[in-house]
Amino acid sequence: AGRRAGRAVRDAFAAAARGIDEQVDELGRLDAIVGDGDHGIGMQRGVHAALDAAEFVAAGGGGAGTSLRRAADAWADRAGGTSGALWGAALRAAGSALGDDGEPDAAAAAAAIEAATTAVLAAGRAVVGDRTMVDALVPFRDAFRAASPGGIPAALAAAVPVTESAAQATANLLPRVGRARSHGTRSLGTPDAGAVSLALVLRAVLDSVGP
Ligand code: ADP
Ligand code: MG
Ligand code: MG
Repeated sequence: AGRRAGRAVRDAFAAAARGIDEQVDELGRLDAIVGDGDHGIGMQRGVHAALDAAEFVAAGGGGAGTSLRRAADAWADRAGGTSGALWGAALRAAGSALGDDGEPDAAAAAAAIEAATTAVLAAGRAVVGDRTMVDALVPFRDAFRAASPGGIPAALAAAVPVTESAAQATANLLPRVGRARSHGTRSLGTPDAGAVSLALVLRAVLDSVGP
């Protein structure tokens, strides 16, 4: 029963990988302003490793939970860096929340997004306002949950623009955690790389699902 959901997860990673491939250089440029410039290449390695893992699980008829948990390990192993560890934690938590039984509905998806957000907050210990991916992830979680009675495509369609605005708004925040911390005001006017890449992944997934 979970096979279709396993294939849907694979398709979502395929869309995310295409989205990241188009923006590798831009994400590196954003990260280089206050970080070490490796965010584009790290995201590209991570999302392709996740896609390969999800492809393998889908080919064997596995469900969404197994697919996300295998993808999580692959992403964290191959991407490296802070964001690789955090994406791994997020996907692992989402996979454990979803499980492999049947076809997740929007309430189950909202619960998985909640679990992923909790995992990122626990692993990275950043809070809203620190200028990280958390500044895009928390508004995404809230907007998705609020719109979830309309179903998964409608909830994504409502939440993705909110996430994109929140990612762009990190341009006004001063970094307080991670490598960026020591660079003070240099980042003002430029959004956080990890917030932008999260929005990009979610936009790609939305475009592939369609409302
Ligand atoms: P690294 O900093 O190890 O080179 P990346 O360049 O791949 O890793 O990722 C950098 C991004 O990770 C930042 O732009 C930010 O969004 C995110 N990030 C850094 N530290 C944290 C943290 N403690 N919690 C959440 N996100 C973080
Ligand atoms: Mg970096
Ligand atoms: Mg690095």
